[in-house]
Amino acid sequence: MVPTASPTSSARDLEQRHGARNYHPLPVTLVRGEGVFLWDDQGRRYLDMMSAYSAVSFGHSHPTLVQVLTEQAGRLAVTSRAFHTDRLGPFLARLCRDTGMERALPMNTGAEAVETALKAARKWGYKIKGVPEGQARIVVAEGNFAGRTTTIVGFSSEAQYRDGFGPFAPGFVSVPYGDIAALERALTPETVAFLVEPIQGEAGIVVPPPGYLRAARELCTRHNVLLICDEVQTGLGRTGRVLACQHEGVVPDGLTLGKALGGGLLPVSAFCAREEVMGVFRPGDHGSTFGGNPLGAAVGLAALELLEREGLCERALHLGERLMSGLRALRHPALQQVRGRGLLVGVEIDPAFAHARTVCEALLHEGVLSKDTHDTVVRFAPPLTVSAGQIDEAVQAFGRALAAVEAGQRRPGRKAA
Ligand SMILES: *Cc1c(COP(=O)(O)O)cnc(C)c1O
Repeated sequence: MVPTASPTSSARDLEQRHGARNYHPLPVTLVRGEGVFLWDDQGRRYLDMMSAYSAVSFGHSHPTLVQVLTEQAGRLAVTSRAFHTDRLGPFLARLCRDTGMERALPMNTGAEAVETALKAARKWGYKIKGVPEGQARIVVAEGNFAGRTTTIVGFSSEAQYRDGFGPFAPGFVSVPYGDIAALERALTPETVAFLVEPIQGEAGIVVPPPGYLRAARELCTRHNVLLICDEVQTGLGRTGRVLACQHEGVVPDGLTLGKALGGGLLPVSAFCAREEVMGVFRPGDHGSTFGGNPLGAAVGLAALELLEREGLCERALHLGERLMSGLRALRHPALQQVRGRGLLVGVEIDPAFAHARTVCEALLHEGVLSKDTHDTVVRFAPPLTVSAGQIDEAVQAFGRALAAVEAGQRRPGRKAA
């Protein structure tokens, strides 16, 4: 029997009782967001240093985006791709202009964009490269995160993401991230693509050695293998350029975008590619009921325009430097490494000091929201609209949070923060 809610049940109790236990949220219930701030049900204000894993790069409820959303919602929201709409073309044109690609295929979530890339790469392999049917291989990097579909978790190197979800799709091989010699050894005549994140986000903001992406580009060109950059998290200004691969002057054959593409309001994603790659799709090959809907297209176009108009790439670049140098200047012995690019920053916490989650809980008490990844990393990825002063506040709060964790450890029996 499903228990019924008493009038006094809090939203969090209901979530815990009726939801699947596939997340372990920090103990805070958010009710409102505006710009870089979030408010909880007690009226407490927090600085958002997480921005929904980059989905809220423009800040919460950006007035321009909310206006486009509400106007478009009142006019035409969803039609399916059975018909043309006046919103899709302009969105795709802008996407291609901003990414340097020739065609774009709109989906909703990042995982769907990656699935689209995998299908395109395989079909390109069979129809253009001439790989024998059923033999296509796609190389991925260890530590990858590309979503949660059964195919995608099948090539994850994270045991928990796979545990209990097999059997998995064949045709994937994994090589160490950042190791160009390993990539070269993995390429065979059947290899159709190398799928790679320019910086690994979920793995803990892992930055590859300089020149890695450029060398991968050269290898892929030489072996007639598609280079597909998964820029779902790193794209759209997060690292200080529209695309993170642009830091090395790399033009991939295809790339995936998501997260920030929906302006923090809707799920909007896309696979963008050169003509030769996207050209393999025929009517009926692939699709999505909601993909490319006029509401998502209008918001996506507005988001791309905003990225340029507000100069958010440049902001991310110099505020990211400020954030990283501020964190390093804390000179706290528990901070083993501060790394990242632009406003995608990871702080490696000495596991002997505390679990990264403990630090995030202490940070929550200091009014700053962040999230641990892989037990030892605290990530900082605020909206790109954050100010220099707010960056400094976050750094100071982080210093206080570390001190609070230490103080908690000095008093046995008392939990940190
Ligand atoms: C988040 C993410 C995805 C998956 O996006 P969803 O919208 O959660 O499906 C894919 N690739 C990368 C690099 C991501 O960070």
